[in-house]
Amino acid sequence: MLAGSSRTVTPVRLPVVLGVIAAGALLYWGKGEFEKPGPLAEEKVVIIPGYGMAVAGAQHKVWEMTKLLEDTGVEVKFAIHPVAGRMPGHMNVLLAEAGVPYEKIFDLEEINADFAQADVALVIGANDVVNPSARTDKSSPIYGMPILNADMAQNVIVVKRGKGTGYSGIENALFYKDNTRLLYGSAQQAIGEVIQHVKAMSV
Ligand code: NDP
Repeated sequence: MLAGSSRTVTPVRLPVVLGVIAAGALLYWGKGEFEKPGPLAEEKVVIIPGYGMAVAGAQHKVWEMTKLLEDTGVEVKFAIHPVAGRMPGHMNVLLAEAGVPYEKIFDLEEINADFAQADVALVIGANDVVNPSARTDKSSPIYGMPILNADMAQNVIVVKRGKGTGYSGIENALFYKDNTRLLYGSAQQAIGEVIQHVKAMSV
């Protein structure tokens, strides 16, 4: 659990999230400033959906947000871990149902090398499948499990309701990294708010 940790994790303010997601405002990251971006840059965002997106039924909102971001010049890809959710293919089915084109959806082996070039890894209701302890901590129960390398992106935004762990019940080192910001909220509501902010910024 995050509680009890020696480090405080501050929930991110929406405008900052938006600045990052909508690109350009990356320049202001960490300076406590936010301005409407100029021409939206060719930022790269990789979305990692997980069980929480499924529970929230947020896939339609996620696709709506994706289209808005693409309209502003942001490149968006989806990264699917083979055990994301609670059954194989869970995320693929939900994204397909929402209308996400097949060519935007990438398996772990296809996308993991891309994270190092990603401006933002946007984790939506995923936890275990992005836990870097699986790579680095030999004492971790999930050590050796392949994970999506979200931690290698320049910025990581995690949408989740609070301090809940994933299916494995273990802490996630990703949430404590300096380049990670947490956006607390149920995925459908949180992404809905992001959509409203992106729309407001685009007028
Ligand atoms: P996880 O179960 O690891 O994490 C889900 C996260 O979603 C939680 O941390 C929770 O945090 C968050 N969440 C829950 N509800 C919401 C909501 N409404 N809105 C936003 N966030 C929410 O999911 P992953 O997909 O990353 O990993 C799947 C796990 O399930 C793996 O451990 C895998 O081994 C296991 N598994 C997979 C199977 C498969 O075949 N795919 C089968 C059985 C198990 P919070 O409570 O803070 O919101």
